[in-house]
Amino acid sequence: MDIEFSTADLAFQQDVQAFIKANLPRGMDMWTKRSEWFQALRDKGGWDVAKWPVAFGGPGFTPTQRYIFDLEMSRNSTPPQIPFGVTMLAPILMNYGTREQQERFLPGIRDGSVNWCQGYSEPGAGSDLANLQTKAVLAADGSHYVVNGQKIWTTLAHIAHWMFCLVRTDNTGIKQEGITFLLIPMNDPGIEIKPIITLGGSHSVNEVYITDVKVPVADRIGEEGKGWTYAKGLLVHERTGLAGIQNSVLALSKARNNALQVKVGDGTLLDVPAFRNKLGALEAELLALEFTELRSLASVSAGSDPGPESSIMKLKGTEIQQRISELNLEAAGVYAAAWGEQVGPGFARAATSAYLGTRATTIFGGASEVQKDVIAKNVLGLG
Ligand SMILES: Cc1cc2nc3c(=O)[nH]c(=O)nc-3n(C[C@H](O)[C@H](O)[C@H](O)COP(=O)(O)OP(=O)(O)OC[C@H]3O[C@@H](n4cnc5c(N)ncnc54)[C@H](O)[C@@H]3O)c2cc1C
Repeated sequence: MDIEFSTADLAFQQDVQAFIKANLPRGMDMWTKRSEWFQALRDKGGWDVAKWPVAFGGPGFTPTQRYIFDLEMSRNSTPPQIPFGVTMLAPILMNYGTREQQERFLPGIRDGSVNWCQGYSEPGAGSDLANLQTKAVLAADGSHYVVNGQKIWTTLAHIAHWMFCLVRTDNTGIKQEGITFLLIPMNDPGIEIKPIITLGGSHSVNEVYITDVKVPVADRIGEEGKGWTYAKGLLVHERTGLAGIQNSVLALSKARNNALQVKVGDGTLLDVPAFRNKLGALEAELLALEFTELRSLASVSAGSDPGPESSIMKLKGTEIQQRISELNLEAAGVYAAAWGEQVGPGFARAATSAYLGTRATTIFGGASEVQKDVIAKNVLGLG
């Protein structure tokens, strides 16, 4: 297995670094010049949709180039894209959508003018997603479905124009088989959105109630009853993405700097053995995870799928995100209690909300216990 970059890969890395240096807006411009940044990426040859294939306007990166691209973007904290359209729905449209659906939806996903949300989870269907009960009944003339049910934890539903949604069209066979993939407009009068305010005090997730919403058959992706297959293939990629390894590398080095700002006796918090031990252990585990990612990259470059090892990345990556937020909370000390207010060192203001916010990372995209099950069965071959 070769985890060294080739000369061509290193040249590509320099190209990405030079592009970022020349084009990345800094400071407040990061928000006001966001669209210029994405336009520059697009003009560079489809870098705005780095994971899309050439046939759909993407750059056709190799797996290694994609890794390097993501690495440099994370290291430089470039403006993020909302993932639901560009990385989650787009590949499903490309693989299973009709040409008409692709032409209708991909341009709005690409230029960010149309926001999407993911309507999978329900009150009785999270880890056991195939248990979902939102019902879609085909009208007698076969032209549309009538959808009724409830989704929950729907991230950014309140700013979404559309929801891609798993619904039940058949209850007779095994539960994975009666699931269909529909696209539902959020401005339909039968859609009601109720906010859920999370521990960190923010509004990003929602309940979505769906009452007698008519969805044309033309807005179904692929075949009726095959939605589970379409959605499942993407989960592996979603999990790898959620590990956020390069973001953690940056966050951990910031945590180290934060500790340097906290005076303890004649030194700083970084001199306190108990704190150093935790920081050192995290640095070692994160390095190990980076190598696990590189090993996975080596096998993907050699033609394999990411496979169930993506569960290792999701499990460890999200635990590390949480532990970094715990270090910052510890470094903020009593000032963490005044969260949201600027008291004490600058980083203390965001420490508590980041700590509370990251509690969700080991739940969404498949809870840690579920990842452990996948690892036990499919990686370790137990049971
Ligand atoms: C912040 C946030 C954002 C989200 N965004 C979205 C979104 O945009 N769209 C969407 O569709 N969903 C979204 N989700 C939902 C998310 O995918 C589910 O919360 C997750 O799959 C867990 O399901 P659940 O909440 O129903 O918990 P449950 O499945 O009820 O699990 C409860 C507990 O039981 C454990 N458990 C369950 N089954 C097993 C098992 N077989 N073995 C061992 N332990 C088990 C779980 O690990 C967990 O600790 C989001 C969730 C959060 C918290």
